[in-house]
Amino acid sequence: MSTVGVLGGGQLARMLALAGAPLGIRFLVVDSAEDACAAQVAPLLRADWRDFDALSDFARRVDVATFDFENVPADTARWLAERTRVSPNPRALAISQDRLAEKTLFREIGLDTPSFLAVDSRDELAQALRRIGAPSILKTRRLGYDGKGQFRLKSEADVDAAWDALAGAPAILEAFVPFDREVSVIAVRARDGEFRAWPLTQNWHADGILSASLAPAPHADALAPRAFAHARRLAEALDYVGTFALELFVCGERVLANEMAPRVHNSGHWTIEGAVASQFENHVRAVLGLPLGDTSALGIHAMLNWVGDLPDALAVLAEPRAHWHDYGKSARPGRKVGHATFCAADAAELADRLSRVGGALGRDAQVAPVIAALAQA
Ligand code: AMP
Repeated sequence: MSTVGVLGGGQLARMLALAGAPLGIRFLVVDSAEDACAAQVAPLLRADWRDFDALSDFARRVDVATFDFENVPADTARWLAERTRVSPNPRALAISQDRLAEKTLFREIGLDTPSFLAVDSRDELAQALRRIGAPSILKTRRLGYDGKGQFRLKSEADVDAAWDALAGAPAILEAFVPFDREVSVIAVRARDGEFRAWPLTQNWHADGILSASLAPAPHADALAPRAFAHARRLAEALDYVGTFALELFVCGERVLANEMAPRVHNSGHWTIEGAVASQFENHVRAVLGLPLGDTSALGIHAMLNWVGDLPDALAVLAEPRAHWHDYGKSARPGRKVGHATFCAADAAELADRLSRVGGALGRDAQVAPVIAALAQA
């Protein structure tokens, strides 16, 4: 009987535990929050990620430690790696925590990225803006996710406001990419180096937060092999073990790497019902050194994220082949509290299902871009 330890007790830890349970795997979650939602399905060690006494106990009790959150201190990951197996490894975690290190690595291994420059002062920001041009986005190097720690600059007049908004934190200035679409590779790498990717996923964001995903992404025959090759190179460069996401902007013929997530990812939630083995099951398999499961999709799937509060569950449950996920979290603006996945045999059936649900929930705007993409599929 193996035990997987998870640093972070949010919905990702919760879904990891739910995926591992049928395999007979135990979990132990570390989080300082009393109401960590993973604690509803797995034992919680209530402690801070810098509480090394508690972490000693944790390290003794688990076979491998992994993450539900990429901003767990890298020092904690390094400390744990001296006491137990840690997957993904601390270096992969540390690089993904720093947008400058991450984008620099992307370039080193031949992944195209939006133009970017490091910015450590207001003057450097003004200079960087002159070189990169407007519009552009200033992003904090650290602790940014879901569009947090970002400021969009339309012209040089925005320099002061942007610098003040980020409160002087080390940052990068990045060219704004007028992308045609956003896609993500959800992939998994095993201890022995075996690499598997799920079909490419197309994503839509609202206010910097994922709003909807569609998989397999339509018209991706030419794109997917390139995207998978990028993801594979990245995983190999990091000697990565586990599931991860690589977010890409598709801009004409160019594929630009935006960021990687060193963990299971929101845009891969559709794999729970939509693939033979989900991103969660394969993460658990990978970190425990078990054979990987099949990443093929079974039909076509759309995932709608519930951000802030949950809509009416009954309208979703009334639909055939709809799957409701309530993370057991309290409602709060900007907080991911659940999602639903809609499965279908083909694009027309999925579009029909989404338009009914969008109407019933008053969420036409959320489903509209997905339906438009399906219409061209
Ligand atoms: P991030 O936190 O970097 O993933 O950014 C969140 C979202 O903001 C992305 O998924 C995009 O929708 C948008 N975004 C971020 N960077 C850029 C960029 N350089 N150009 C255009 N849109 C961007």
